[in-house]
Amino acid sequence: MSELEKLYKEMVDQEDELTGFKAGVCFCGEEGYHSECLESLRPIVRRDKQAESYFETLGYASVDVANGGFKKAELSLFSQLEFDPFENGYKSKDVLENRDTYYFPIVCVGCCGYLVTKEDLEVISFGSYVGRIEHIWAYYEGAQLASLGKDRNNSLIIKEVRDAKRTLKVLKSFLDNNYVNSIEPEFRSLPIVLDNVDIYFGIRDLFDARMKNWFEFEIV
Ligand SMILES: [Zn+2]
Repeated sequence: MSELEKLYKEMVDQEDELTGFKAGVCFCGEEGYHSECLESLRPIVRRDKQAESYFETLGYASVDVANGGFKKAELSLFSQLEFDPFENGYKSKDVLENRDTYYFPIVCVGCCGYLVTKEDLEVISFGSYVGRIEHIWAYYEGAQLASLGKDRNNSLIIKEVRDAKRTLKVLKSFLDNNYVNSIEPEFRSLPIVLDNVDIYFGIRDLFDARMKNWFEFEIV
């Protein structure tokens, strides 16, 4: 059995608390195993793997809970939360750290965790539109990830377009379609600077674009 088949079998065989589907019911809602449902998982699994291998390059490892710097980061985060994370099952030892940041896997409705910077203990809260890896990627790209409702204005500089069709599709995922069509002719005279854009809802597609090299861009 392939890894994908194993994963699909597990999904069907387990009861799904979220949907209420009993064991033996496929995620499509019908009983049994279905080859087309299995196939539909393939691109999702492939994408997850790519995200995981990107994440590995960032060097995250389990945090040293006894470290004074970590204690400060934890306090800085907790002072901004309106709930007690310990009541949500938070454990300090679950935090990951790399050279620059701590990642707190405190996940609740509308939030897939928090990043706290080591240098100045800045707290960055993640939404839930995309997963933690894409959020962390966006942080490292320089995107503003302030909470919903706050200003999240960035500039996106398009430096080189390798796949125009896919580039347009990515831009249309978070920018007005007419606006994107109007800038398409400028692909012939790069770079283009798109000022004052909220890239938040484009993170997923921009991440894919970066991983697959569809176009070269910078977020400032
Ligand atoms: Zn199915």
